[in-house]
Amino acid sequence: MSVVYFVIPCYNEEEVLPETVKRLSEKLEQLISDGIASKESRMLFVDDGSKDKTWELIEKFSSDNKYVGGVKLSRNRGHQNALLAGLMTARGKCDCVISLDADLQDDIGVIDEFVLKYQDGCEVVYGVRSSREKDTAFKRGTAQGYYKFMAALGVEIVYNHADYRLLGSRALDALAEYKEVNLFLRGIVPLIGFRSDYVYYERSERFAGESKYPLKKMIRFAVDGITSFSVKPLKIISNAGIIICILSFIFFIYAIVSVITGSSVAGWASLMCSIWFLGGIQMLGIGIVGTYVGKIYSESKHRPRFIIDKTIISGITDREKESAGQ
Ligand code: UDP
Ligand code: MG
Repeated sequence: MSVVYFVIPCYNEEEVLPETVKRLSEKLEQLISDGIASKESRMLFVDDGSKDKTWELIEKFSSDNKYVGGVKLSRNRGHQNALLAGLMTARGKCDCVISLDADLQDDIGVIDEFVLKYQDGCEVVYGVRSSREKDTAFKRGTAQGYYKFMAALGVEIVYNHADYRLLGSRALDALAEYKEVNLFLRGIVPLIGFRSDYVYYERSERFAGESKYPLKKMIRFAVDGITSFSVKPLKIISNAGIIICILSFIFFIYAIVSVITGSSVAGWASLMCSIWFLGGIQMLGIGIVGTYVGKIYSESKHRPRFIIDKTIISGITDREKESAGQ
């Protein structure tokens, strides 16, 4: 029997939380009665600085139900940091943790499979979506294009896997060694290694509330994923620079030849075109380099990735004196 922790990041999730707690409690009780999980197993809800009643609900549920635990971050830090805060809190208290979203879009029916694979010796088990039929055409198209683009850039990520995964205690210890501030867990976990496996599931719709990932956050997340794991965009820019230099050299020869042969002077249009084109390429190049420099800047400060305000496990509330996430 293993001590299993569920880690659930929550941001303004008061609408879904009561149902999520109910369904996950049933699941955990079933795992315990089936002899898969031990009685020390817990559900850890991480309140990512919600502005609604999420934390009050977590406190209330934890006083009624000993399996419910909570971690309150000092402010909103984003899904990835909230998830890491939960994982690092669970570390040392459990054999394995399963991370899932508060809206239960990830099918909790396959949790047994996750744990059984762990008990068979896997340290990492990835939840992979078997189809994307329930997504809007836009989200499906952009998401799949993104996975392919990442693969082309040489970033190793698991196709159609989000953050529904199991990590064993050794994988958690390894994860703690990755100190980066620009977190993109889907990129880091495959780098950890160990024996891993996949569990396939159908993703359903959010049963209440709205997505906490508006387009702006999604784009930021996507850019983070690329610039944190691949330096290829820098290479593409320098290659483009070389090609443009060669092209302009050819153009230069053409211009000289046309002057010698006495044909009319090159016109205003071609001049304008090259100025604009080169200007554009230069700006793009500076922008991409700037993005990486910005990353170096934020990484070099070694700021904590999250700060825990309160932790409740088994109904005991204690105040963390030190900031976590070092
Ligand atoms: N979330 C979070 N902090 C944020 C945004 C989202 O902890 O700043 C949590 C959210 O509560 C949910 C999970 O991340 O449990 C995934 O978010 P959501 O379901 O809104 O994303 P989607 O499924 O639409 O991609
Ligand atoms: Mg969701």
